[in-house]
Amino acid sequence: KSGFVTVVGRPNVGKSTFINHLMGEKLSIVSNKPQTTRKNLNAIYTDDEAQIIFVDTPGIHKAQNKLGEYMVSVAKESLNQVDLVIFITTASGAVHPGDVKIMEELKELKTPIFLLVNKIDEFDQDKVAKTLEAYGQMVDFKEIFPISALKGKNTENLLNLMKSYL
Ligand code: GDP
Ligand code: MG
Repeated sequence: KSGFVTVVGRPNVGKSTFINHLMGEKLSIVSNKPQTTRKNLNAIYTDDEAQIIFVDTPGIHKAQNKLGEYMVSVAKESLNQVDLVIFITTASGAVHPGDVKIMEELKELKTPIFLLVNKIDEFDQDKVAKTLEAYGQMVDFKEIFPISALKGKNTENLLNLMKSYL
């Protein structure tokens, strides 16, 4: 089996950290500075069963300039051409305004979408639960997972689930 998985989300939610965690090495650039990922970075995961090409997008946020516009258009286009979209947000307790725009785009897709609510190591369980519920009502996600990409919490089954969509 082989396929493409695109990872989308606001800057700093942990997209690169998540891909790095799955890959087991530092391939994408992880930074506190938003938009360190200047272009789509691909990471190829391979094991006995599958090959997955991860596309780490610079985000489908509102563009500030020509380069930004180009980055956004590439990110949007890729969403219709992949096997699976992984949308990452953080466990802040409510829907982030920036995510509303992203989810409007996601709703238009036929591509299956997973929701990952990241950084559960930083937020209390009540906030995590509220986040899961609020986001789950907005898009028809195939899977919803609270995770910590940094600590590798609750990420064990994700690769297997991803493989079932390739
Ligand atoms: P991206 O912009 O979405 O690619 O986000 P990055 O992967 O670059 O991460 C942004 C910041 O969030 C970095 O300082 C990461 O170390 C941190 N981060 C990522 N995942 C987690 C997590 O699960 N828990 C915590 N506490 N921090 C995280
Ligand atoms: Mg990144």
